[in-house]
Amino acid sequence: MTTDADVIVVGAGMAGLSAADRLIAAGNSVLVLEGRDRVGGRVLNEALDPADPTQVVEVGGQWLGPTQHRARALAQRLGLALHPTYDQGQRLLERRGGRLTRYRGDIPVINPLVLADFGQAQVRLDRMAKGVALDAPWTDPRAEHRDAMTFATWLSRNVLTRDARRLLRSALKVVWACEPHDVSLLHVLFYIHSAGGLDDLIGTSGGAQQDRVVGGTYLLAERLARELGERVLLGRPVRRILHDDEGVTVVADGGDDLRARRVIVAVPPTLAGRIDYAPALPAARDQLTQRMPMGSVIKCMTVYDEPFWRRDGLSGQAISTEGPVSAVFDNSPPSGSPGVLLGFLDGREARRLSPASPEERRDVVVGAFTRLFGPRAARPLRYLDKDWSTEPFTRGCYAAVMPPGAWTGFGPALRAPVGRIHWAGTETATIWNGYIDGAIRSGEDAAAEVLRAEAN
Ligand SMILES: Cc1cc2nc3c(=O)[nH]c(=O)nc-3n(C[C@H](O)[C@H](O)[C@H](O)COP(=O)(O)OP(=O)(O)OC[C@H]3O[C@@H](n4cnc5c(N)ncnc54)[C@H](O)[C@@H]3O)c2cc1C
Repeated sequence: MTTDADVIVVGAGMAGLSAADRLIAAGNSVLVLEGRDRVGGRVLNEALDPADPTQVVEVGGQWLGPTQHRARALAQRLGLALHPTYDQGQRLLERRGGRLTRYRGDIPVINPLVLADFGQAQVRLDRMAKGVALDAPWTDPRAEHRDAMTFATWLSRNVLTRDARRLLRSALKVVWACEPHDVSLLHVLFYIHSAGGLDDLIGTSGGAQQDRVVGGTYLLAERLARELGERVLLGRPVRRILHDDEGVTVVADGGDDLRARRVIVAVPPTLAGRIDYAPALPAARDQLTQRMPMGSVIKCMTVYDEPFWRRDGLSGQAISTEGPVSAVFDNSPPSGSPGVLLGFLDGREARRLSPASPEERRDVVVGAFTRLFGPRAARPLRYLDKDWSTEPFTRGCYAAVMPPGAWTGFGPALRAPVGRIHWAGTETATIWNGYIDGAIRSGEDAAAEVLRAEAN
């Protein structure tokens, strides 16, 4: 059979680039087809000052945690240094009626009863999560029961105090970018186990928000793509994949059809479901992709001449159980200048404010920051945001969330190859699912799967 490459990879996000990297190291020829005119997918830098491209913030994925070993190893290999997220001083909690509380550590101390209630819920979630098989969450005898229930139902049945429920709701929104009623309990447990524990997900120092890449996380994708060189073809959205026992033909805009022995589709499942396959995919695979909606998030930042909150003894980190901004971080560059506050609009708030103008969103976000950090927050030099739900090649973030019934009804179709079509992307990862680390692992796993299949 004449081919253009041994393997075609669809998508030049961290998963697709990592898959290509592995396959090339194993001696395969590879082409990566990317729909956008850039690589990186859900990782993207933006210049803080359009006149100075060296000062950047990330408008997509940004933090690397201490147990995200594959992402950290890749950063090291590519010569990228890490710097810690600013995590000194007190944090703020905003509650009903605008009440502000200062606290230290990852969990706000409101009163002993609420703390104990939050603590017992966390222990139970972590304990249940440990029992979920990461490669097959549907196999546990309790899976059906847990997958029949939303996280909202579990909260209402198992958390006694209103404030602890609200804190857990906020944690869910920040981590999953959806509402507690959008997601099944089983998926929440899978995701917690995939990260290690709830503390690993919500923590700053010691958790998923611990470190940033000097120069921005986008450099991971940019440098990896540079190594791949002309094998990465931009502006080539894949529309159709024809597959048979011999190989695959990939039909993409902007050029000729391409033939390969195998294809790795490294795009979010909901977008994989929008590609036309001939012959059609098995029903279970197609129905799975109909059941993996993306979360809803708008990442928003304000820029000041300095991080003024630090002088008030504040870390810049805050949680609001009332919204519209659910969580805030100090996102200043390592030099501490300029000062940058980062806030997330997620779940319901992202859906409500997605159609609003940038000016309206700015007013909402600046208003929220001003309530938290005082009048200086009201006068940013610049406001920027990124609404990932409107991006045609992403359609939501941070990742897909499984509603009730998806894991137990269709889970086996998530990773199983269909003939010569293999699947990658952070949504297929068993470790750090939903994160950059998971994306890299998923690409490496899909490459290993292809190599095994070719060896047989
Ligand atoms: C706002 C935000 C904050 C986040 N924060 C963090 C964080 O702090 N830490 C962390 O680890 N993770 C974070 N994440 C998640 C992280 O960015 C993702 O898990 C990761 O980048 C996903 O990589 P991927 O390769 O699996 O998918 P993607 O990055 O989505 O890559 C898929 C690629 O496929 C392309 N594509 C889609 N359809 C087609 C098609 N038909 N043909 C050709 N190409 C196509 C897309 O353009 C894209 O380049 C965040 C994400 C967002 C958006």
